[in-house]
Amino acid sequence: MKPADQPQPVQIVGAGLAGALLAALLARRGFNIALYDRRPDPRHARAEGGRSINLALAARGIHALQRAGVMQRVQPLLIPMRGRMVHDLSGGTTLQPYGQKEDEVIYSVGRAALNRVLIEEAARYPTVSLRFEETCIAAVPERNVLRFRRNSYGDNGVEHELPLTPTIATDGAGSAVRTSLVTAGQLTFREEWLDHDYKELTIPSRAGQHVLDGNSLHIWPRRGFMLIALPNTDGSFTATLFLARTGEDSFASLDSARAIENFFRREFPDTVPLIPELTRDFLANPQGQLGTVHLDPWHLGGRILLLGDAAHAIVPFHGQGMNAAFEDCAALDSLLDQHDTWESLFAELARSRQPNTEAIAAMALENYTEMRDTVLDPAFVRQKAIAMELERRFPERFIPRYSMVMFHPEIPYAEAQRRGAVQAKILAELDARRDAAGQPDLTLAGKLVNEQLGPLQAKTLSSTS
Ligand SMILES: Cc1cc2nc3c(=O)[nH]c(=O)nc-3n(C[C@H](O)[C@H](O)[C@H](O)COP(=O)(O)OP(=O)(O)OC[C@H]3O[C@@H](n4cnc5c(N)ncnc54)[C@H](O)[C@@H]3O)c2cc1C
Repeated sequence: MKPADQPQPVQIVGAGLAGALLAALLARRGFNIALYDRRPDPRHARAEGGRSINLALAARGIHALQRAGVMQRVQPLLIPMRGRMVHDLSGGTTLQPYGQKEDEVIYSVGRAALNRVLIEEAARYPTVSLRFEETCIAAVPERNVLRFRRNSYGDNGVEHELPLTPTIATDGAGSAVRTSLVTAGQLTFREEWLDHDYKELTIPSRAGQHVLDGNSLHIWPRRGFMLIALPNTDGSFTATLFLARTGEDSFASLDSARAIENFFRREFPDTVPLIPELTRDFLANPQGQLGTVHLDPWHLGGRILLLGDAAHAIVPFHGQGMNAAFEDCAALDSLLDQHDTWESLFAELARSRQPNTEAIAAMALENYTEMRDTVLDPAFVRQKAIAMELERRFPERFIPRYSMVMFHPEIPYAEAQRRGAVQAKILAELDARRDAAGQPDLTLAGKLVNEQLGPLQAKTLSSTS
């Protein structure tokens, strides 16, 4: 596809993380873009509720940001995190490094700041028109229109329609475009809700400094639930409690200041002095739901494509939802040169991405158990050490699954999942057959790795994901 073949603007609904990046990528190629969002322009508005909400950015996301030429502007927003700092009940901590090479870190980044930089980047292109305070109500393919409602002061509530030129819906997990197309029977959709919700809290800085190690992702795993905290550039941390919705230890049971305080004193005693506004924030902050979105197909001919959370929202336990959404954008950009029509481009994009986003959805669910529970098991710690040793000895065949997902964008998610399953069996066998000194049999390791894992091939992102 070339800009000259496309006289009408490409419409992007949702100027969140994926929509803003996609606008910048397409504008870089010379396309005219109309980018809509229901929110006020974040370049002028304050961050939602004044709270700082952060995300983990890893190699797949960074690869896409580099492709858009925006990484230099994103860099100052990033805080490297070397590993998980596991907090036990008595206040003791253990660092579990994410990788074993210097650059194998993930980065904490503020959602609002990152989104603002991406919108500013898109706005640098004269071919991008930004339309805020426009809520998309529906796509109506039979009449070839998109319906919007204006939220801005003055014409609040006014509805209008726009012709449906190629439209990419990046309007997030609750996508209105998706809902309208599913209701019209054009797409099929399934949402699997987790029975655990989340709530964000703030660990403020002291004299501008982090009160916990500022280069780790902190976890308080308590088997059935967990608290995590990611650092912010202002010295604070955003903590997130993941907990069952109902039951004995649940959000439903934490319905008073006393119940909240007792729960935190019992389960996360070391955090109580660090969260001075615990009960006030807990009672005031929203309780979010988590789920996995499965959509099929992702597109309606060459007219509408859904990307990012709108097509494949996942639970956040692998820190990959945004990374996967950014990877969608990079994949679309890389496929543009190979297609003459939007229809074949959208079809190829969906065909190549769907197996990969299904794979990360499954791995993200598995990671919840790992984060809140398995990290505490000696067998997990032993097998992680064996995995690191195998990576050092057989780097062309064995890379721990977590590392494949977080640090190796050249390995598609589905391949990381497939190899990860084979590797898990190898690790279990080596762990079970440790010698008297507790050491794995490295001759056996070499045999199993060579027999069961083919060599990793350096594939380019464009051809694989
Ligand atoms: C608690 C939590 C923690 C997470 N942690 C991580 C992490 O560490 N790492 C990671 O990679 N991912 C993480 N994620 C996932 C990540 O937030 C999403 O995958 C990512 O935001 C998806 O980007 P998106 O652009 O598709 O959607 P969004 O970022 O949600 O953007 C959607 C945009 O569409 C706009 N919009 C919505 N409806 C309409 C409408 N009707 N009309 C017009 N505009 C509309 C919204 O205002 C918004 O700007 C986390 C998610 C949660 C819930």
